[in-house]
Amino acid sequence: MLPASVVVIRGDDLIIEMINDSNLIYWGKSREQVLGRRFLDVLPDLANQPFAGQLRRVMQTGEIIDVKESPVLFTMADGSLRETFVDYTYQPLQDLLGNTNRVLVMSFEITDRVKSRQLLEQYTEALGNLNESLSEVNDSLVKSEKRFKYFIEEAPVAIGVLQGQQLILETANSKILEVWGKNTDIIGLPLALALPELNGQPFLEILDHVFATGISRYVNEINAFLQHDGEVKELFFNVAYKAVSGLDGAVSDILIVAADVTEQVNARKAMEETMRHFRDLADLVPAKISNIQPNGEVTFYNQQWLDFAGMDFEALQSFGYDQMIHPDEVDGFHNGLQKAATERRAHIAEMRFKNRHGEYIWHLNVVSPSYDEYGNLKMWVGSTTDIQALKEEDQRKMDFVSMLSHELKTPITSIKAHVQMALRLLGRETNTPSIQKLNSSFDRIDKLLVQLTSMIGDMLDLSRLDAGRMDLSTESFAIDALIQEIVDDFRISNPQHVFDVTVHATVVINADRGRIGQVLINLIANLIKYSPNSKKVDIDLSTANNRVQIAVRDYGIGIEQKEQQRIFERFYRVDGKNEKFFGGFGIGLFLAHGIITQHGGTISVESEVGGGTTFRVHLLLNSLSAGTAITS
Ligand code: ADP
Repeated sequence: MLPASVVVIRGDDLIIEMINDSNLIYWGKSREQVLGRRFLDVLPDLANQPFAGQLRRVMQTGEIIDVKESPVLFTMADGSLRETFVDYTYQPLQDLLGNTNRVLVMSFEITDRVKSRQLLEQYTEALGNLNESLSEVNDSLVKSEKRFKYFIEEAPVAIGVLQGQQLILETANSKILEVWGKNTDIIGLPLALALPELNGQPFLEILDHVFATGISRYVNEINAFLQHDGEVKELFFNVAYKAVSGLDGAVSDILIVAADVTEQVNARKAMEETMRHFRDLADLVPAKISNIQPNGEVTFYNQQWLDFAGMDFEALQSFGYDQMIHPDEVDGFHNGLQKAATERRAHIAEMRFKNRHGEYIWHLNVVSPSYDEYGNLKMWVGSTTDIQALKEEDQRKMDFVSMLSHELKTPITSIKAHVQMALRLLGRETNTPSIQKLNSSFDRIDKLLVQLTSMIGDMLDLSRLDAGRMDLSTESFAIDALIQEIVDDFRISNPQHVFDVTVHATVVINADRGRIGQVLINLIANLIKYSPNSKKVDIDLSTANNRVQIAVRDYGIGIEQKEQQRIFERFYRVDGKNEKFFGGFGIGLFLAHGIITQHGGTISVESEVGGGTTFRVHLLLNSLSAGTAITS
C-alpha cells in the first residue's frame, strides 16, 4: 500500500524475501519473478552498480545507508538503457537471535523530479553559455542569435527573457505563451502589463529581487493563477529565474525557464485527498477496522481500534494484534485465517479482544482477503464489531432456559403420575357417558404431557449442547429399521398424510440411536408442520462414498434462500407472518445440527419458496449390507 518501494533482502546471496507492489512496478516484474530469487539474478544489470556491495556491507556492519538521488540503470528488452533516480535507505534487520541477516530497502523513485530539474539546468546552462558567447564574440553575433532564438523557440519547456529593471518581455517561446494563455501581442510589454493577473502573486517580487541582487532563483511546484481566455486557472511550475549579466557585469536580463508540473501536482493532491477520505471513512464507522499484511503485520488500525486499546498506532502496532486476542482464541484465529486463505474467502469468528482496562470483550471479527491484479493475496481487511451486549443477552437467555426446564421437570413428572393414576382408576369405573368423557380428557392430557416433556427435553438438550455436555451413547443399529419405526408412529398420529419411504439398502451405522431418532422425528414433524396444504412426505435412504444419506422432503411453504443458512442457528425462526401461524421455539434444527455434527456428519437444506423443502443428513457409514431397493 505504501507509495514507497519496499523490499526485504536476505543473506549473502541477496535473496528477495518480501516486496511490495510499488517496487514490483518500478522493477517491471511480477511477484513470481522475484520472490525467493537472488537480487542479481532478477536484475543482472545492477551487478556493475554499487547496490549489491552496499547490501552486503549493511548486513556485515549493521550500519544504515541513506543515499539521495542515486542513478539506477536498467537495460530494457530492446537493449536500450532506462535511467532512473531514487532516494533510498538500506536498513539492517535482525533475526530472533540478533544476527543481522536481512536488509529492509525503502526507496522513492524521483526520476521525474530529477529529469525535469536536469532539463531546466541544461537549458539554463546552455542559454547562459550562449549568452556569454554572445557578449564576447562579436563576429558570430548574428549566427549565434539565430541559434539562440531557434533553440528557445523549439525548446519543450517554457522560456522567456525579461529585459531591464522594468522586466520588458523581450523573448517568449510558444510554450511559455501557451502556459500563460497569451499570444505574441504581449512581447515588448513590461511583465506587469503583459500578465496583469500577477498582481498580488509573488512572482514580480521574486523577479525584482533577482534583478536587484543578481542571484538566480529556483522554485519547485509554485502555483500561479493565470488568465486563460477570461478564465483564471491554477497551474504549478518548476521555475528557474536566471540573472544574465551584460558586458559591464551588471544584470541586464532575466531568463525564465519553467516546466508545467500541474498534472503531476494535481494527481498527487487527488491521491492524498482520496487517502484522507478513506481514512476519515474508516475512522467514522462504528466498527474497528484494520489492515493486516499476509505476513501478519498490521499496517492500519482505525480510530475505534486505538480508542478501544487506549494506544496510539505505533504503540498498538508494536504491541501486536495477537496480544489483543484472548489467549484461548489465538490458535483458532490463525488456523481459521490459514483455511480462509486457501479457500479464498473471509474468515468470520466470534472472539474476545482485550480493551484498555484489560477486560476481554466479545467481538464478531470478519477478516476479508483483498487480492492484487495478479490474484495474489495483498492484505486482509479486518472489520471487528463489539457484540458483548448480545453475548450477555444470549447467556441470560440460556441460563433462563436451563433454569426453566429444570424447574418444570418436577411438577410435570408429578402431574404425569396423577394423570396415570386417574386413568387407572377410571378404567375400573362403569362406562357411563361422563366417565367416557373424563377418560378421553385424561387421554388427551396424557398426550399433551408427552409433547410438553419432549419440549422440555429439547430445552435441556439445548443447554447441554451449549455447555458442550451432550454425551452420545453409540451402538450399531440398522438405520432403515429406525426410519421405519418412526414413520410408523407418524402414520398413526397423522393418518391423513402419505409417507413415501424409499430405502435402497439395509444400512447399519454406529451412532446414538436415540439422538438420531430425535433428529428424524424433529425433521419429519417440521415437514408436516410447514406443509399446511400438502399431505405428502418423502423419505429416502441411500449410501454413497462411505456415507449414508437420509433425505426428507416436503411439498410445503419452503424457505427463502437467505434464511436457509440461518435456520440451524439457536432460536432462529423465519421472520414474518408464519411465525404466529406455526408455533415453535426455533431450537429443533439447532439441536438436529448439533447432534449430527457431534456424530461427525452434516445436515443441509435445499428449498424453494412454495416448492417445498428437502433436508439431507449425511452420516459416516459403519458397515453396509447390500440389498435391493425396498419401498414401502
Ligand atoms: P421451530 O420449528 O420450532 O420454529 P426449528 O429449529 O425446527 O424451529 O426450525 C427453524 C425454522 O426453520 C422454522 O421456524 C421454520 O421457519 C423453518 N423450517 C424448518 N423446517 C421447515 C420446513 N420443512 N419447511 C419450511 N420451513 C421450515
